[in-house]
Order: sequence, then structure tokens, then C-alpha cells
Amino acid sequence: MIVKTAEFVTSAVNPTQYPPPDYPEFAFAGRSNVGKSSLINKLVNRKRLVKTSNTPGRTQLINFFLINGNLSFVDLPGYGYARVPVAVKKQWGPMVETYLASRTTLMGVVVLVDIRRVPRQEELDLIQWLDDHQRPYRIVVTKADKLSHNKQSRPLRLIAEQFACAREELLLFSAKTGQGLEPLWRALNAMMKIPL
Ligand code: GDP
Repeated sequence: MIVKTAEFVTSAVNPTQYPPPDYPEFAFAGRSNVGKSSLINKLVNRKRLVKTSNTPGRTQLINFFLINGNLSFVDLPGYGYARVPVAVKKQWGPMVETYLASRTTLMGVVVLVDIRRVPRQEELDLIQWLDDHQRPYRIVVTKADKLSHNKQSRPLRLIAEQFACAREELLLFSAKTGQGLEPLWRALNAMMKIPL
């Protein structure tokens, strides 16, 4: 996939603030620090379209980006960060759930999990919710480069077990090496009703 343009469109909390539903859209979800900004930047071949943050959990808005003038990417706020105040945590659920339930142009959700962490309840709840609401999704295992090839099998098996999916369904990704970039673009394409 050749990305010629990638631009920030707007931040939103409520549906009234979403951009018009003009383009097929993909949303990216994951715990803070999972490597979500790095993954989106890598996908669109930009250094800092999405700001990587050293203070996880600061971005509590839904951010919309327009890719090549005809594809929309949505950066959902990172969840499960302990230092986020309770009031913010309470807002996260409804804000994200409203988005996932109501966005008519949403083609799929990319759910990110760190290869070195066992998925927690938030991730499992999100996948359950997506299953229940028949929203297509793909699970991407990030920071693959942090483990050597032969150290990857055990965590991958555990992650697959937790999500009750086949190991082959997990997409391995590294923003550092670019591993998994093409397979992820192919997976996005496969979720589109009209392929790019
Ligand atoms: P976000 O909070 O989910 O948006 O995570 P970021 O993209 O800001 O990444 C969090 C930290 O992990 C940063 O220090 C990144 O440099 C690092 N990181 C992200 N992706 C990778 C990766 O694929 N490999 C390695 N080694 N580090 C990564």
C-alpha cells in the first residue's frame, strides 16, 4: 500500500463531533504503551502523524485521520492505564462503545496486544464485545522485535489461548523492523467491503 497523504482530521468525544461518515474506516485499540501510535505511524509511513507519548493515557479523545483522501483511521484512546483518574476511566467505556456501536463506516478494528504481556480483562472484554456486536477485528501482537524468534512461540500460544483463537490468526508486528506491515495492510483490505 502506497500512502501519499496522511493528515489529522479532528478529535472527538461525542458522535456530533465525528467527521461525516464519508470513507471506509478502521479503528485501532489497545492498552496505553502497547505501541499503537508507532503502529499507525508505520502503516502510513510517517514519523509523527500520531504523537507517541511518554505519558501513557494522556490522549483521551477519539482521533480521526484521513489517508490518501479516501480512507479513515481512528486512534481510540488507550485503555487500562492505572494513573488515569477514575472519572476519565468511567468516560472511556461509553465514549469508545458509542463509537464502535454507531459508526456506520467502520470496517474493522485492529486490537493491539504487547507480545510480552498477558492480555488482561479489558482486552478480553473488548474482543467479547466485538464478537457480540459482529464487528470484524484483527488481533495484532506488537513489539515482536523485543523477543527473538524462538522466544516468540510461548507468548503467542498464550495470547491465542486467552483470546480463544488460532495462533495463525494473530498478526505479528514490529514498528521497529517493519515486520508484519504488508500482512496488516492485507488484513485491512480483507475487512473492506470494497477493497482498496
Ligand atoms: P501507545 O501508547 O500505544 O501509542 O504506544 P507508543 O507507540 O507511544 O509506544 C510506546 C513505547 O514503545 C515507545 O517507547 C515506543 O518507541 C515503543 N515501541 C512501540 N512499538 C515498538 C516496536 O515495535 N518495537 C520496539 N522495540 N518498541 C516499540
